[in-house]
Amino acid sequence: MKNQNDDQGFRASLTRRNFVAGGSAGLAAAALGSIAAAQSATPQTFKRVSDPGQNNIPLLKENPSSNNPPATDHGDTGAIWYSFDLAHRRQTAGGWTHQVTQRELPNSTDVAGVNMRLAAGGFRELHWHTAAEWAMMLYGSARISVLRPDGSVFLDDVKRGDLWYFPPGFPHSIQGLGKDGCEFLLVFDQGKFSEEDTFLLSDWVRHTPPDVLQKNMKLDAQTLSRFPKDDLYIFAAPEPGSLAADKASVGGESSLSTTRFSFPLMEMEPTISGPGGNVRIVDSRNFPPSTTIAAALVTLHPGAMRELHWHPTGSEWQFYLEGQARMTVFVSPSNARTMDFHPNDVGFVPSMAGHYIENTGDTDLVFLEILRTNQYADFSLNNWLRHLPPEMVAAHLNITPAAIKQIPSKKLVVIS
Ligand code: MN
Ligand code: MN
Repeated sequence: MKNQNDDQGFRASLTRRNFVAGGSAGLAAAALGSIAAAQSATPQTFKRVSDPGQNNIPLLKENPSSNNPPATDHGDTGAIWYSFDLAHRRQTAGGWTHQVTQRELPNSTDVAGVNMRLAAGGFRELHWHTAAEWAMMLYGSARISVLRPDGSVFLDDVKRGDLWYFPPGFPHSIQGLGKDGCEFLLVFDQGKFSEEDTFLLSDWVRHTPPDVLQKNMKLDAQTLSRFPKDDLYIFAAPEPGSLAADKASVGGESSLSTTRFSFPLMEMEPTISGPGGNVRIVDSRNFPPSTTIAAALVTLHPGAMRELHWHPTGSEWQFYLEGQARMTVFVSPSNARTMDFHPNDVGFVPSMAGHYIENTGDTDLVFLEILRTNQYADFSLNNWLRHLPPEMVAAHLNITPAAIKQIPSKKLVVIS
């Protein structure tokens, strides 16, 4: 693990390197020396050659680990980084949306994500889809509705830090509340899912013969002619009344779902807490409807690290909320990639791949680990090595059994 001084040296070397890229050959030697010091974990056997040509300076500054990788990086892990801030934003008067899917992260077959904003009163149109939908509120508040096959409906108001889960095919809605509506993250349990491919109420009625609609809904032709001529998808609307009034309007208690499809994550005590930060794990064990998505909301204080680990359940899809991070992903055989992550970025860890996530900033790092499974599970490298006969591990790592005992034996999850 890097110490504080290494961190500062690393940042200083980056600043100097960019200056060198601007054309000052005189500083090249100093910058190269500093880069070598920052990579002391595995000394390079050669001096890094300068980069005198064109550069996208903002990108270089944002991702120094990609541009100037540690000497331990090698080969091709496939894409492990993308950002919602690079994705096309579909905008309407009621809000906007953009997505990061398997089209952006080709190995992410398990999970796709959407970041959506709804203005006050703005609706995400009544719809359903083939994937399950897991969500976390990031800003403001919203009213959600979802119907169960037995005809009972779940209505709730969700605020920042709350989650919801809608099973595949269950029809639902989301509406922005309060002064400024809301913003949220949607996670789907299909990598190729697209928010453009959902079953919309307006789309269906537009593609059904009017006489069939008339017969089915018992509405006359004049009333049917008022139906929307285009998809609504996201649209502006007046704010709703109180949640209690909405519940009463659908028939009160007897019409309401006894299953809760929302979950107040921030009201839950952290699952793991220590000097380096905390982790809140939520899956079907504490949020029963969430049968296909398990998540960990991880907060790491400056300098702390999510320890070297992997997940036996498949790949990991990450969303970064606050702070800055560095992650190296190890994919057999011999492939390793290190990149830097910032708020609104998506990280991806291929199936079973080893990884750590380190807080490289001066403020808390907050990110989500999303797994497509019903129960969160991980293996800690330290925990593995300390639950074997010390002689066995000593023979593998070429160190003494006494040295093995210095490795933390508990699965710490967060290393400070
Ligand atoms: Mn949906
Ligand atoms: Mn992980």
